[in-house]
Amino acid sequence: MYGHITLRPAPADAGIVFRRLDLDHFEIEAQGKNVARVSYATSLMKQGVLLSTTEHLLAAIYSCGIDNIYIDIDAIEVPILDGSAEPFMQMLEQSGVRKLRRKRRYLRVLKPVEVSEGDRRIGIYPADEFRVRCYVDFPHPLVGQQEVEMLVSPETFRHLLARARTFCFERDIQPLRSMGLIRGGSLENAIVLTADGVMNGPLRFPDEFGRHKALDLIGDLALAGLPLLARVEAHKAGHSLHTQLVSRLLADRSAWTVTTEETAARESETGATSLMPAIASD
Ligand SMILES: [Zn+2]
Repeated sequence: MYGHITLRPAPADAGIVFRRLDLDHFEIEAQGKNVARVSYATSLMKQGVLLSTTEHLLAAIYSCGIDNIYIDIDAIEVPILDGSAEPFMQMLEQSGVRKLRRKRRYLRVLKPVEVSEGDRRIGIYPADEFRVRCYVDFPHPLVGQQEVEMLVSPETFRHLLARARTFCFERDIQPLRSMGLIRGGSLENAIVLTADGVMNGPLRFPDEFGRHKALDLIGDLALAGLPLLARVEAHKAGHSLHTQLVSRLLADRSAWTVTTEETAARESETGATSLMPAIASD
């Protein structure tokens, strides 16, 4: 069973909205209030209607600076495709982006908000542009410690993150399949790690795992509902911590404000201050 998605223009202030075509166009807004916590991917739920694996598509939309869009889908799960965000970037680039007359609204973070679980932690901090730093430390010969630090713009996302694919373990595939969680799952839509290597290489980047985690992070931050003026630091985090951070941020009304002031953000949209990622591995 394959799902189909169609991306359609939406009016100002619509936000990023999924529409389940198979359920009478039921709308699920890509917002923190609709997060249903699931560990292996991020799912949204509204009035009992579920939509899973939103993060790769949302990462592409959010990084491209698209504030208003309808995502029409006829299935419960966003197609995983090759496990990266590249196919979604291609869709967005083929259709193009239209500027609306309305001033762009940003969510400006005013004070730090942090969430931690053991040695895993994530925090969001005030900044004049949207930056992420993502550190992973994963006990596998091909992964180890990896770090990505970058300004998020359409250009940096396309060049540094979009092609990085999701990973899974050979030993985990069968149980997930039997639970019906990876319907289209195969060697074509994830890097499959064995105990000491990869079943379906080569990797697209030596640090593809770290890059993909940064992609996931951006896709989950999209659930803030507006473009961010903030710096986010994730240390061995994952979907659960990402979405907890978004929920905690949105719940603390003293931690952010909505602004149309875009002096700093305009600079970042041109990519003028983009940096190459700092990569550390051992
Ligand atoms: Zn992912």
